[in-house]
Amino acid sequence: MDFAYSAKIEGLRTQVQDFADAHIVPRIGQWKKEVESGIFPVSFIEDLKALARQQGLWNLFLPGLKTDEPGTQLTNLEYAPLAEIMGRISWSSEVFNCSAPDTGNMELLHLFATPDQAEQWLTPLLNGEIRSAFAMTEPDTASSDASNIQTSITPDGNDYVINGRKWWITNAAHPNCQLLIVMGKTNPEADTYRQQSMVLVPLDTPGVTVVRNLTVMNHHHPEGHCEITFENVRVPASNLLGEEGSGFALAQARLGPGRIHHCMRSIGAAELALELMTRRAQERKTFGRYLHEHGSVAEWISRSRIEIEQARLLVLKTAWLIDEHGAKAARKEISMIKALVPMLHTTVLDRAMQAFGAMGVSPDTPLADHWTWGRALRYADGPDEVHHRAIARIEIKESAENLSILDAYLTPFEPD
Ligand SMILES: Cc1cc2nc3c(=O)[nH]c(=O)nc-3n(C[C@H](O)[C@H](O)[C@H](O)COP(=O)(O)OP(=O)(O)OC[C@H]3O[C@@H](n4cnc5c(N)ncnc54)[C@H](O)[C@@H]3O)c2cc1C
Repeated sequence: MDFAYSAKIEGLRTQVQDFADAHIVPRIGQWKKEVESGIFPVSFIEDLKALARQQGLWNLFLPGLKTDEPGTQLTNLEYAPLAEIMGRISWSSEVFNCSAPDTGNMELLHLFATPDQAEQWLTPLLNGEIRSAFAMTEPDTASSDASNIQTSITPDGNDYVINGRKWWITNAAHPNCQLLIVMGKTNPEADTYRQQSMVLVPLDTPGVTVVRNLTVMNHHHPEGHCEITFENVRVPASNLLGEEGSGFALAQARLGPGRIHHCMRSIGAAELALELMTRRAQERKTFGRYLHEHGSVAEWISRSRIEIEQARLLVLKTAWLIDEHGAKAARKEISMIKALVPMLHTTVLDRAMQAFGAMGVSPDTPLADHWTWGRALRYADGPDEVHHRAIARIEIKESAENLSILDAYLTPFEPD
């Protein structure tokens, strides 16, 4: 295993950081003001996207990019430190065309779209001309278990007819969102894992209604986490992604690298929180001492540094494993970082908020927004418990092969 950043990556890290320092960080306040006054997408986003693309900082996430597709063909390991920089500011990934859920959707289309589907949807997504959403979760279904999904995608002549209700569909309120990748049942009689399929649904298809944009712990996200109804939505059968009955397998494929991008960005958010906490602890005094001279605050700083380093190494190991052996071989590590990193994200953010006093929960720092997002990530792409379950199952299976070897370590009491 080798996680060292190569000279190429050190160069790209500097380039992305310099770009962020010059063009993104100075616009944090303007982004907030415009969004609060209802302007979205913000006025400067297309200019920043064009500039990033001009500088070669575009589609940094997709290792399988073809030579005639726009982007950099970085490996997951190479992308990780760049995503970390993006994670410091909630909206910055869009500048580099690296936002979720478009990244996961582009991965999926890259793997499974027909040439016509790719031309219609993948090309404009890779060019950053449109945005997309992934619609699986349902309010009336325990959606941690994808086999529960109830939305029907019924074959009807040369069409599919979709009926159902989804919620928490990220990006669906973005004015540029044009595509929904919808998961539902094409054959309720098939084996459990062959009942589901995915279809490509243009957002403006008759019968698709975006009912509301849900706030996340009362935080408004302009791109949206939406509730959507599908009432007799008709799309041509050629909009099927992959094969009929392959929805479950496609969902698994989509969540490999896509899941770890969130973790990479969370490391960046936690790192920013630690930097802000460390600065604050050197500025404020209580009871005659700087905050960092109080043992509890010093320990928050120390623990945060240790935990971030641990988590970053595990994320890099996971990225390396995916690059070397594929997402399937890395499934335990993917679940490990998915269970670990959102928790780390909120823990470090929580300490930083506490160190800032009441200012920590005000809108005058990025801490409350980052904490809220970290909390939401404990559900998005599967709740913590589902990942712990997956890890434990793999661990039990692996250990079953070696149980007898452990006999030698056990020395039950035997009377002389
Ligand atoms: C901000 C945000 C954005 C999202 N974006 C999207 C999106 O773009 N597209 C999309 O389709 N979905 C999205 N989701 C939804 C997310 O993927 C689901 O919330 C998640 O999969 C859990 O499904 P559920 O809410 O139905 O919880 P349920 O399935 O009802 O589970 C409830 C709880 O049960 C517990 N639980 C479940 N299984 C187990 C187990 N095996 N062992 C122990 N405990 C268990 C967990 O604590 C879990 O939180 C988003 C969610 C949020 C908050």
